[in-house]
Amino acid sequence: MNRKYVIAIDGPGASGKSTTAKLLAKKLKYIYIDTGAMYRACGLRSLEMNIDLNNRKKLKNMLDHTEIQIKYSQAGNKIILNGKDVTSRIRESDITKLSSKIARIEMVRTKMVELQRDIGKNGGVIMDGRDIGTVVFPDADFKFFIIADVKTRALRRWKEAKEKGEDIPIKDIEKELIWRDRNDSLREISPLKQADDAILVDTGNMTIEEQTNYIFDIIKRGENA
Ligand code: C5P
Repeated sequence: MNRKYVIAIDGPGASGKSTTAKLLAKKLKYIYIDTGAMYRACGLRSLEMNIDLNNRKKLKNMLDHTEIQIKYSQAGNKIILNGKDVTSRIRESDITKLSSKIARIEMVRTKMVELQRDIGKNGGVIMDGRDIGTVVFPDADFKFFIIADVKTRALRRWKEAKEKGEDIPIKDIEKELIWRDRNDSLREISPLKQADDAILVDTGNMTIEEQTNYIFDIIKRGENA
């Protein structure tokens, strides 16, 4: 590939976007940015500092003293919050819901979007999230919107948890996904929605390899067009 593209992948939780984005990044030798991890890190920071999300002054002060870094590696990026590796901690369920709550707040989004634009400004990046194709990089070279029905998504998350030795009832996972879909789609600022020019990919009946190859072929075709 000659030019270094910006590739935006958006979609609801557990739709398969992160797994696909990671594999694509490997194939293309691009960097992969999981923007959800940044909102999760903000959520964790607010919990650690015991910040009431309605107290905007305290929240602003917290953001001014919050540094999120990404350490890139083929084995998986590490998320560093104020010098501490929080890669595993931010995946825990208390942070999942909190990340969606804190992501509604404009000053939080402003800071995260600034960081994301800076990381992606030279291209060669695959970024996944909720608003990458609509807000962060509206001029991205390729945009995909990945979906799957909620039962499939819940089953994927349940299997992931099981592999990590956690036994979470699938009903709870499904409930949490439905709550987050609503919270992320109905918020006023940068809601989860498909950009007009994004390609819709329903991964419900696709394996990870199939969805990765499907998107990879579209990028290849686009490049040669
Ligand atoms: O992608 P992930 O499930 O880790 O994201 C956690 C939460 O962060 C989402 O539920 C959403 O509220 C928020 N988020 C967002 N914008 C993004 C990425 C994530 O609002 N670009």
